Amino acid sequence: MRHYSYVVLGAGLSGLTTARELSRAKPGEVLVLEREDQPGGLCRTITRQGARYDLGSHRIHPSIPDNIARYLCDLSRTKWLINPRDGKLRLRRQYIGYPINSLGFLKGLGLLESAACALSLSWARLKSTLSPASANLCWNYETYLKRYAGARAYRLFYEPYARKVWGCEPSQITTEAVKKRISMTCPLEILRAIFRGGGNGHKYYYPPNGIGSLADALSSEVCDSGSTLVMRVADIRIQVEGSARWITYSDGTSRHTVSFDKLVTTIPLDDATALLDQGNALQSIRQAMRWGGLRVAYVHVRQQPLITGETSYFPELEYIFGRVSIPRRFSPAMQPDDTFTSFVCEIPCTEHDAVWQLSPGELGDRCLADLVKAGLLTCPQNLPGRDFVVNLPKVYPLYDLTWSDTVKRQLEYLNAQYPFVYASGRAGLFLHCNLDHSVRIGLEAARAVLDGVSSRDWHRHTNAFRELKLRD
Ligand SMILES: Cc1cc2nc3c(=O)[nH]c(=O)nc-3n(C[C@H](O)[C@H](O)[C@H](O)COP(=O)(O)OP(=O)(O)OC[C@H]3O[C@@H](n4cnc5c(N)ncnc54)[C@H](O)[C@@H]3O)c2cc1C
Repeated sequence: MRHYSYVVLGAGLSGLTTARELSRAKPGEVLVLEREDQPGGLCRTITRQGARYDLGSHRIHPSIPDNIARYLCDLSRTKWLINPRDGKLRLRRQYIGYPINSLGFLKGLGLLESAACALSLSWARLKSTLSPASANLCWNYETYLKRYAGARAYRLFYEPYARKVWGCEPSQITTEAVKKRISMTCPLEILRAIFRGGGNGHKYYYPPNGIGSLADALSSEVCDSGSTLVMRVADIRIQVEGSARWITYSDGTSRHTVSFDKLVTTIPLDDATALLDQGNALQSIRQAMRWGGLRVAYVHVRQQPLITGETSYFPELEYIFGRVSIPRRFSPAMQPDDTFTSFVCEIPCTEHDAVWQLSPGELGDRCLADLVKAGLLTCPQNLPGRDFVVNLPKVYPLYDLTWSDTVKRQLEYLNAQYPFVYASGRAGLFLHCNLDHSVRIGLEAARAVLDGVSSRDWHRHTNAFRELKLRD
């Protein structure tokens, strides 16, 4: 029976980064198991009929740390494009430039609404300074944002956004969800951010052949160093006897069993626990873990879009999608044929809800209708044979009132019962993070495993990643 020093579950950016580093240290000693038919996870680029598509709008943010940028750049061996950021935010039937700047804010919302937002913000701050009772307030997404952004902006933007992405009452979401996205904690900072237009958000990097080329480069390195990457893996089982352990999996044609020493898992934490928790001791804890899902509808039309910009944001509930992007505007190589337009529509939903149940055709039709309603198109003349939909059930960790305990108990279980298991990556740690964060986590996980850090210490260390701020 083949033996590997390391097994990595999941070939997203974090799993592949860990696999690459482990493989460099111990060539040929890593087995990577991936469920999909191509590597990259959320950062994969799908190729169809000569066009390329990312899973939703993906870009490399300009604030990526230098060491991670260099790491990825050296790997991909192609020069990244440096594109001007040209986003749009749809609010009250108007488009505002995104990231928001002062002029766009005033123009889009109008003088009156802007003044009302500013007043509401000042009032919230004054009230919380004057009223000692607010110190005892129960903090959640709603109370926090009403206090720090004002009730007006909360109702206008943050409330519908939360309902759309997580599909639940904002009062049921903890402040972690806010703090990860919004680093502004005082009115002055909010105003400064508005007037600065989102700091250095005016440009972004993009690999010419799609964001998935980062994962492709990592995968090639893993395979070139003699390690093994298996796609379309199903029915994984793990068996432990004393200090010996085996993993059995199916690759679509046959079942394989290998022995191994350590396992790094980047698949959703509840799924990893389920693989190991054969006595089902943790079933109720696992089931308490809630995720927001995403359906990505790729809609093609014979018309050029009516507005400029590569990505448009739709926080309001009247549109089925939360974000729409146009791959050709990220890089011409994404769609060499310019006689049609592909719209990548991101539709937040939860597994098994009404939107999840829509057939791909119904979903495409809803998107097309909303693209017209949003003024991106006039006549919805679909291009036959090109549309498709990708379903992603576990994309956004839902930081509800029990999430922290749920994660803690699952990690404690792994520490106690399976000390050879290291949870890592976005889904593996139930973490909402950017792609460069996933690469950083992947690098640090490899270091920890190679240095012999215990899984308990590794999991303690991963608390630091919860402080990482999201960039959009
Ligand atoms: C719509 C969207 C847009 C984004 N845009 C940006 C952006 O512009 N910039 C940015 O910096 N970040 C962005 N991100 C975040 C970025 O995509 C992620 O942080 C990163 O890709 C996560 O990588 P990961 O390896 O940690 O996790 P994942 O990509 O989730 O990798 C997990 C892997 O495990 C596999 N897997 C799951 N279950 C199993 C199983 N049972 N067996 C085997 N394999 C399994 C999955 O298929 C996947 O390949 C975006 C995310 C989304 C959802």
